[in-house]
Amino acid sequence: MGVPRYWREIPQRYNLLGKKCSICNEVFFPPRVICPTCRRKSIGKMEEYKLKGEGTVETYTIIHDPPPHFEGEEPYAVAIIKLDEGCKVIAQIVDCGLDELQIGMRTKACFRKIQEDGKSGAIYYGYKFRKIT
Ligand SMILES: [Zn+2]
Repeated sequence: MGVPRYWREIPQRYNLLGKKCSICNEVFFPPRVICPTCRRKSIGKMEEYKLKGEGTVETYTIIHDPPPHFEGEEPYAVAIIKLDEGCKVIAQIVDCGLDELQIGMRTKACFRKIQEDGKSGAIYYGYKFRKIT
């Protein structure tokens, strides 16, 4: 992920801000300008919507061979989480043993270090999900 794009998206990433179509009530995250269902009718009718950050694990995978910048954390779990509002996010699952992971498990967003840039010393934060106990 490029740094400029990352910083541009920071408000959404930190606050889980999406958009809600006020015609059909569908919620989108990341935010969309136009609802794909209502199309032109939704122009100007998309409202900011703060997601609760709770959802259910739909599927997950264990990463053993991580991309650059993520080395040292493997193995770790990445899941597709269906948020209660209906949209899906991909996120790392933390604070949960890999053998505890289950499809259908309830999770909640939390903010954690995502990656560290060794050269610049920058540390990026974003959401990950943890099990609700
Ligand atoms: Zn709509």
